[in-house]
Amino acid sequence: MVSPIFSRNRKVKILATLGPSSSSPEMIEKMYRAGVDAFRMNMSHGEHEAHAANVRSIRALEKKIGRPIAILADLQGPKLRIGTFAEPAVMLHDGTRFTLDMIQKKGDATRVNLPHREILSTLQPGHTLLLDDGKIRLQVIRSDGNSVETEVIVGGIISDRKGVNVPEVVLPVSSLTDKDRKDLTFALEQDVDWIALSFVQRPEDVAEARRLIGGKAALLAKIEKPAAIDRLDEILELSDAVMVARGDLGVELLPEQVPPLQKKIVAAARKLGRPVVVATQMLESMIKSPTPTRAEVSDVATAIYDGADAIMLSAESAVGDWPIEAATMMDRIAAQVENDPSYADRVHFTETVPDETTADALAAASYNIARTIKTSAIVCYTSSGSTARRMARERPSVPLLVLTPNRHTARRVGLLWGAYAVITRDVTDFEEMIGKAKRMALRHGLGEAGSRLIVCAGVPFGTPGSTNLLHIVRLIGDELKRR
Ligand code: PGA
Ligand code: MN
Repeated sequence: MVSPIFSRNRKVKILATLGPSSSSPEMIEKMYRAGVDAFRMNMSHGEHEAHAANVRSIRALEKKIGRPIAILADLQGPKLRIGTFAEPAVMLHDGTRFTLDMIQKKGDATRVNLPHREILSTLQPGHTLLLDDGKIRLQVIRSDGNSVETEVIVGGIISDRKGVNVPEVVLPVSSLTDKDRKDLTFALEQDVDWIALSFVQRPEDVAEARRLIGGKAALLAKIEKPAAIDRLDEILELSDAVMVARGDLGVELLPEQVPPLQKKIVAAARKLGRPVVVATQMLESMIKSPTPTRAEVSDVATAIYDGADAIMLSAESAVGDWPIEAATMMDRIAAQVENDPSYADRVHFTETVPDETTADALAAASYNIARTIKTSAIVCYTSSGSTARRMARERPSVPLLVLTPNRHTARRVGLLWGAYAVITRDVTDFEEMIGKAKRMALRHGLGEAGSRLIVCAGVPFGTPGSTNLLHIVRLIGDELKRR
């Protein structure tokens, strides 16, 4: 069975994190049907076997629905995390003492393991430690190299493996830890489509990861360190996509610095034609509530108006009580925003000047044709996906149907704005190219009798990087009968 693509009715993609609330074949299918286009496995949590089971569920779902689905494996990176507690959650009260140490024993309200000697030995009295995205604030009172005793300045509830940020201390760490290398090997064995690299600080971090990945998956750089902002364009050049990782970005910097940076990162990524994901706390209150706050709805809408390729669910879908409702809510917000008559102007506020390439010339032409005459889709033949990315960069008014023989390319499209992929054999001549474009558009619900398609391809057929042909075709009654 092939599910029609355009039940989606939107351009922005939804990336949802899997976790205990969503890790079953049934939940994954429900989430997909609610609107999720790509699934994120957070390698900071969960055993390999649990991730592998999710990969199997997603690949089985792909078969069932006949559509490619993107899987992103998000490497933890040098994120400092505390160990585990004896209880599911522990309350830290203001003014009490709390110790972080090297002892590998489950924690309680007085202590917990922090398995990073280099950090424990760097911390000095007066330094601030932030736990769980800055929700809890501790101040170091004493340190002996193996442990630090702190005072709880701002307390709260804390649970296993929450993140630790040390904003005042520069940490001498590489962006790929030993755990990341193991997780990367595992993720590549699982044939995931995207690898996300956390706490990127320098372009060299991306280059190193790229070497290790060796083209087996596409690479997404998470922007969550001030240092990465300083070298954003260089990092973008080396990456296949980026994420505005607002959780850690808002801890490393001030929360009010995040909105302007979100605009800056989204615009920079769009200019270079790199898919950009806006992530973290988008519908945070939906972890516990079936409805979001008005402010959260507005935040999701803003990311869509800015032209982000994808919006992400984190805890909402991984550990929340309402994962399906959260995905449905994102889908509904997207439909509303993208139907707003002012949406096209707002999305084109970011100017994307075409490079001097044939692919960009055709992408710009396709965009203009879709504005000039009524068309139902741009159909583009691509093997590497590069033509599709250049087309999506123009943010055209009609959907982009990506026809590719390459299943990796097809799956990676799960993070690309407005693009939907179908895996199909390469065409060998012009008639076949037109015929297949029409058939695929009809089969996937992209047009009816009389509607026109913009078809882009490269001649000689099947030669990567040769996009040089644009044709406008009309769907007529005959093809409808043969559907
Ligand atoms: P994380 O990344 O959820 O892996 O921390 C996202 C973020 O920091 O916003
Ligand atoms: Mn992060």
